[in-house]
Amino acid sequence: MARRFYSKNGIKKIIQTQLKLNMKYVTRMRQFVISFIAIQKSIRKVFRVFFPGPAEVRRFVQRTPSERVRLYNFTEQLVIILCMVIMAPENSNAQSRNAATESKISATIKQMTLAEKVGQMAQVSIESLGSIQNGNFVFNEKFRDAVVNYKIGSMLNTPGLLNPQQWNDVIEQMQAAAKETRLKIPVLYGLDDNHGVNYVAGSTLFPQEIGQAATWNRHLIFDAGVITAYESRAASVPWTFSPVLDLGTNPQWSRIWEGYGEDPYLGSEMGIQFIKGVQDPLGSKEKLAVSVKHYMAYSDPKTGHDRSDAWIPEHYLREYHLPPFRSAVEAGARTIMVNSALINGIPTHINKHILTDIMKKELGFTGFIVSDWQDIENVYRRDHVTNDIKGAIMLAINAGIDMSMIPYDYKEFCTDLIALVKEGKVPVSRIDDAVTRILRVKHELQIFETPVTYLKDYPKFGSEGFEKAAYNTAAESITLLKNTNNILPLPKNAKVLVTGPNANSMRTLNGGWTYTWQGERTDEYAKKYNTILEAVQKKFGSDNVKYQEGVAYKMKGQYYEDSVVNIDSTILAATGADYILLCIGENSYTETPGNLNDLSLSDNQLLLAQAMIKTGKPVIIILNEGRPRIINKIERGASAILDIYLPSNYGADALADILAGDVNPSGRLPITYPRYTNSLAGYIHKPSEGNGNPQGGEFDTQFQFGFGLSYTKFEYSNLTIDKKSFSPNETVTISVTVKNTGDREGKEVIQLFVSDLIASFTPDVKRLRGFEKVDIKAGDSKTLTFKLPLKDLAFVNTDNKKTLEAGDFKIEVANQTASFKVDRTIIF
Ligand code: BGC
Repeated sequence: MARRFYSKNGIKKIIQTQLKLNMKYVTRMRQFVISFIAIQKSIRKVFRVFFPGPAEVRRFVQRTPSERVRLYNFTEQLVIILCMVIMAPENSNAQSRNAATESKISATIKQMTLAEKVGQMAQVSIESLGSIQNGNFVFNEKFRDAVVNYKIGSMLNTPGLLNPQQWNDVIEQMQAAAKETRLKIPVLYGLDDNHGVNYVAGSTLFPQEIGQAATWNRHLIFDAGVITAYESRAASVPWTFSPVLDLGTNPQWSRIWEGYGEDPYLGSEMGIQFIKGVQDPLGSKEKLAVSVKHYMAYSDPKTGHDRSDAWIPEHYLREYHLPPFRSAVEAGARTIMVNSALINGIPTHINKHILTDIMKKELGFTGFIVSDWQDIENVYRRDHVTNDIKGAIMLAINAGIDMSMIPYDYKEFCTDLIALVKEGKVPVSRIDDAVTRILRVKHELQIFETPVTYLKDYPKFGSEGFEKAAYNTAAESITLLKNTNNILPLPKNAKVLVTGPNANSMRTLNGGWTYTWQGERTDEYAKKYNTILEAVQKKFGSDNVKYQEGVAYKMKGQYYEDSVVNIDSTILAATGADYILLCIGENSYTETPGNLNDLSLSDNQLLLAQAMIKTGKPVIIILNEGRPRIINKIERGASAILDIYLPSNYGADALADILAGDVNPSGRLPITYPRYTNSLAGYIHKPSEGNGNPQGGEFDTQFQFGFGLSYTKFEYSNLTIDKKSFSPNETVTISVTVKNTGDREGKEVIQLFVSDLIASFTPDVKRLRGFEKVDIKAGDSKTLTFKLPLKDLAFVNTDNKKTLEAGDFKIEVANQTASFKVDRTIIF
């Protein structure tokens, strides 16, 4: 094929339109060095091509035509690399790229047929390619068809619970089949690791994300990321569909527990730590690529039902839902999964503005976008936007989806997409862009060099050290919400009645995404860990602990079904106890099967709770739930309340240690706990939200966002701001002193809230802008300093522009307040 030289303008165009290279200065320098090493031997050749002496001209003329073409192809590559390095525009938003990798990818793309390219964009679920037989997974005949004939680029999901060696075998067979293809491009396997590598037997499971966020401890989240990546690589899987960055703004939603709570800042900070723990440095055999999800606003459906429409104007999307994804891109997230539902009536999978304009162009995301489960097909079947699947594929790929989680009918996807390209309905340039992104991530992960990793090289898999990290996370997540007359901790010889449907269940401690999708087999798989009953028996002595179930979940029914078992005998058992530990909440669920019509705690559980309160014995409520189920009818009767969320396999041990006072609770709510089913606004709201509350009070929640008690007391003093007035580009320095005035060591979460007092656009009452968790010994004080760039206080106006307006701001840290002025308005 004849080749052409690029003109100066042509090169500029490559830089500006195709490569979209945006690199910070430092990255450019690093890339320059890498590129220089990669190309040094060839530089002389290039100079000879551009500035030929008589000898070069003679040699060139003597070459055969195909040699000349090869030389110019090669020269063209070098010119592109040099231009990428030297002329890359400055844009601090964008993710960087590696010139040598880019060059490899463009060489591969040139060799690829359309079918090979489309294959890379296809992701297939493993359970359609085989099944477990006699305890081991066996691929069926469709497997070779998918990998060898259709050259699919990716696989996902679990066929049932496998141990790491079984995963090693699966991935080895998969990569062996990929080697049989012409280009030998390895297949990228991805798994949902919601709280550790939850689809791999023997792995270390952490609290679900809502509990992780309740720790307010960045270090623990980073460690959870490191361990998740390590254990995933022990099972040969280099890609995880986590973290969830959906904001928990709607407490009715069935997946609120899968995310880091309702605040964009807290969510961003936790997300950044997890991403760094999992990914950095990408290419290491202990690291994975993340897939942050579900971009964006999936968590805020108008009705509260999973996968239904969110009505959110763009400036609110940008103010609340975009920031965690923006931070994730800045932290280097390599893949992004799309909101499975709709925003303003548009299925997100065909929303070009959100996928391409915002994510790829504005944020400069250079990884790839994967669809959610069957969601291209859903544009046709569920959302009725097209007449057939082919139409849906066209809209989704043109909107910016790079890989389709098909998940079964790969033939239809590949055939339709090839036809769409041939018909001119999907441009080849879009396909090339998608495949470039996918190959980029595969190269960055170095799965070309190391397609399979093996358990034997990961001796720390499921180790005690990892278990300790999971235990610590559970211990720091548990949130003490009420402790009348310091009834907790309990005396060592306390006689306790343990009751409730959550008292003796590993399933409820773990929630969904545990060994199976809905978590319904956890009691079978997690036998070796302690339920609450078992942990409390170990801690306080079996003789001191009695158990009556009271109410039971229907383990083979719907997650929301429960029934009264024995309330009378439970009342009777209470007579011999000093305390009642009432373990209530929810059974495991996730996604659409977890939809709910009434956020109140179930009738049967309320009945049990009321019966226990009536006994007159102190009732300690343990809330073990993914969503904040309404408890206002029983809260007053309880002496103490602990929210343990979904703390997973070490959660009960951590709870028993807290009940006994061996651990001082330090969790804080990452969500607002509502008091009434019709008042579900979170702490981020406008002042008018408090008006006309029929129950009185301003903004009346059961427990506020950020709330949590300790067994010790903390006193705040000396909140100071370095100046009284600032210009918008400055950073405010705030300091505050915290003293532990109680008699035991404790961890305190210092939360910095800021209120914009007057703005042309009604400001939120207050917003979290900083936090730190510190350990303070009894009697000691610590002074903390926060640096707050004023630009971080800007709001997004109705033109979708960030705006910081001149005026007064109030800082609030616990009971301390201070204020400052911004002297002028900027829009950026
Ligand atoms: C969920 C995703 C998940 C995917 C793959 C979908 O149903 O919404 O969160 O990553 O399945 O299992």
